[in-house]
Amino acid sequence: MKAAAFEYVRPADLAGAVKALAGMPGEAKPLGGGQSLGPMLNLRLARPKLLVDVSRLESMRAIEDRGSLWRIGGAVTHSAIEDASLPGGEPLSSVARGIAYRTIRNRGTIGGSLAHADPAADWPLALPALGAEVVIAGPGGERRVTAATFMHGAFATALAEDELVVAVEVPKLSAGARWGYWKFCRKTGEFPEASAAVLLDAQRKVARLWVGALNGAPQPMEALAADLAQRGGLAASEDAVSRALERVAPDLDPAQRRLHITAVRRAVQQATE
Ligand SMILES: Cc1cc2nc3c(=O)[nH]c(=O)nc-3n(C[C@H](O)[C@H](O)[C@H](O)COP(=O)(O)OP(=O)(O)OC[C@H]3O[C@@H](n4cnc5c(N)ncnc54)[C@H](O)[C@@H]3O)c2cc1C
Repeated sequence: MKAAAFEYVRPADLAGAVKALAGMPGEAKPLGGGQSLGPMLNLRLARPKLLVDVSRLESMRAIEDRGSLWRIGGAVTHSAIEDASLPGGEPLSSVARGIAYRTIRNRGTIGGSLAHADPAADWPLALPALGAEVVIAGPGGERRVTAATFMHGAFATALAEDELVVAVEVPKLSAGARWGYWKFCRKTGEFPEASAAVLLDAQRKVARLWVGALNGAPQPMEALAADLAQRGGLAASEDAVSRALERVAPDLDPAQRRLHITAVRRAVQQATE
């Protein structure tokens, strides 16, 4: 199938993009790398009257060192993050490197991935685990939400129809911080069937463990993370993970459950070895 007819604009700046979106509420959509929106248009699962191309907005394409954090523009591609040297933000590059394959990464953007909110996608899992904030712009100005609360469910987010993800801000890790990230993909380049992310940063008193590729948004496993911080790898016993998973994702079938338990345990192992 081919996409239904739509208008296309490429505003020169963020204000122009916000104005274009606000001018056709509910009928205009931002265009990032088009890696998810393209197929949705072609299948006519999305039928916007206007596409507002934000992929070349300079203000959304920058990766900036802001002292204690990295600010990544919403239109920065996965491959730009993969190729960047980000001291204190190393997990960002390694997560980017594991997304799909290079041709997809060359176009897909971090903002598009968050806004699309596929439950199995990498950024909606990794960014909450890293304690990131999402910077959003709309007709009312700029606002921020934590990455942990940005995704509301499968393909549902905190964004209003006329809002854009302009950037994500990711706190830098301390020198001794440990990161673990594991995902099971049936084939290289495919979305994972189970995924987990762990951050242990004792200096900043941070311990986070998130599980992804669920039926809805990725979920935190807070008690397990606290236990991990206190007792090291002991907390990641099969029983402990299984109980924690039951609390956040009781609807998994036995095969999914097994994969998720193992993904969590391997991410923990990476972070504690
Ligand atoms: C074959 C294939 C395999 C993939 N595998 C993976 C994988 O393993 N892991 C993974 O994480 N992802 C994967 N992806 C997804 C891909 O990496 C992109 O991140 C994703 O397609 C969305 O990014 P995009 O920039 O292309 O957004 P688009 O396709 O342009 O847009 C997606 C949605 O987000 C909205 N949008 C775009 N930019 C913004 C913005 N700045 N602000 C607000 N809304 C915006 C659009 O209106 C649309 O609703 C895969 C995609 C494909 C096609």
